Amino acid sequence: MMLLNQKTRRAIAILYFFYVAAALLPAQNPCRAPFNTTERSDDPEAAFNDYVRRFVADGRHLNTDLKTIPTVVHIFYDAAADSLPIERVQSQITAMNLDFRRLNPDTVKTRSQFKAVAADCQIEFCLASIDPQGQPTRGVVWHHIPGFNPDLLASFMQATQWPPLHYLNFWVTPNGEGGFSSFAWEAGSETDGFVVGAKQFGTFGSNLKDGFNEGGTGTHEAGHYLGLYHTFHDGFPYLGQCFPPCDSTGDHVCDTPLDWTLAFSTEQCEDGQRFCDNGAVFFTMSENYMAYAFDTCTNVFSQGQRIRMRAALDSLRAELCSPANLAATGCLPPTNDQEPMPVVQKLQAFPNPAHDMVYVQIPSASGGQIRLWNGQGNAVLSQTVSPGTTEIQVPVVGLPAGFYWLEWRNNGLSGVGKIVIWR
Ligand SMILES: [Zn+2]
Repeated sequence: MMLLNQKTRRAIAILYFFYVAAALLPAQNPCRAPFNTTERSDDPEAAFNDYVRRFVADGRHLNTDLKTIPTVVHIFYDAAADSLPIERVQSQITAMNLDFRRLNPDTVKTRSQFKAVAADCQIEFCLASIDPQGQPTRGVVWHHIPGFNPDLLASFMQATQWPPLHYLNFWVTPNGEGGFSSFAWEAGSETDGFVVGAKQFGTFGSNLKDGFNEGGTGTHEAGHYLGLYHTFHDGFPYLGQCFPPCDSTGDHVCDTPLDWTLAFSTEQCEDGQRFCDNGAVFFTMSENYMAYAFDTCTNVFSQGQRIRMRAALDSLRAELCSPANLAATGCLPPTNDQEPMPVVQKLQAFPNPAHDMVYVQIPSASGGQIRLWNGQGNAVLSQTVSPGTTEIQVPVVGLPAGFYWLEWRNNGLSGVGKIVIWR
C-alpha cells in the first residue's frame, strides 16, 4: 500500500471527484446519432472506440490538416476582484495551443523512450470573434453571479452555454480548483464543454495554485473533450499484466503504456515504474497530459492520443472545424492580406472608477478605434480615434455601474484596460 500524505490524499479525492463528476454529466442528446452505421449506436462511447479503429484502418489518421476549434470562455465571478482579465484567458489559450502543437517549452523533459511517439496533434483553439447572434465578440463572456454556489454549477453552465456543436464552451469557476469535462461522445449535451477552476487557469496571476501555472489543467480537460481517457483509465483489472491488447483496454491507446494503479503524485514528477507478474519492469508515461501530475511534470500527448482526438474532430465534433462554422464564428485562419495578430498593450485610463467621462491614453499616434465592452462581453460603445491623437475622451454617462473593458485597435496594435463605472 502506498503511503500518501494528507495533501496528496486530498488531491486524489478532489481529482477523483471531478473524474466521477465528468462521468455523471448528462448523456449525449439522443436525437443525435452520429454512428448510425454501427450496431452500437445505443452506446456512443463504445461506438466512438469502434470508430477510432475504423479511422485508422481507413488511413485517415495520416491526414495532417490543421483543425481549429472555435472557443468561448465563460468567466463566472462573484466579487469584481475575482474576475479575470482577457490577458489571462489569452495565456490559457496560448498554453493549450503550444501543448497541442508540441511547441511547449518543456518538450526537452519528455523521457527518451517516449520521444518517438510525442505528437504534434495539429489542433488549435481560437477565441471566437463572432457570437451566436452574429455580433462581434472577443470569445470571452464575464458572468456576474452574486454568491456563486458551486453546487449549482451545472445550471449555470446550461444557462450560459453557447451552441455546443459550434463552439467549445470553456467555463472558469471563481477561486475554484481542478476541472472536469464532457467526453467527445457527449457532444451536444446541455453541459457539453469543460470547466477549470480559476486557481488552475492561465499562466499568470496571484491566485494560481503552486504547480498549476502552465495551463495544464485546460490542456488535460481539452483532451477529455476530444475523446481521451486518463492514461490509468480502467487499468486495475489488468494488474500485473504487462501488455494486454492495447487498443481495447485501458485508455485504448497503444503508445501510452497501460497503468493499473493510481500511484501518481501531484507532489513531484513520478518515474512511473511498474512491476509485472512475470518479473518484467516497465514505465508508464507519467509525463503525459492525461496523467495526474503537476503542470511542471506533464509535457506530451502521444501519437495514439492524437489519433483519438482527430477521430473525434472527424465525427462527433466535426461541425466545430467545418469551414462554414469557422467563418460563422470568426475563426478562419488569417490570410496574408488580413491584418496580423495584434500586439497587446495595457491601456491607461483615468479617472478610474469613473462617473461620466474617462480619459484614455492612446499608445500610438496612428489613430484607430476605441471600444468599450461590458462585463457580459457586449460592446456598448465604439469611437474612432483620429491619427495624431494621444488622448481621447470617452463619455460613459448613462452606462450602468459595473466593470468594463476598454479596447483600442489599429492594424497590428491593440491595447486593453479595465475600468469601473460608479453611480
Ligand atoms: Zn481528467
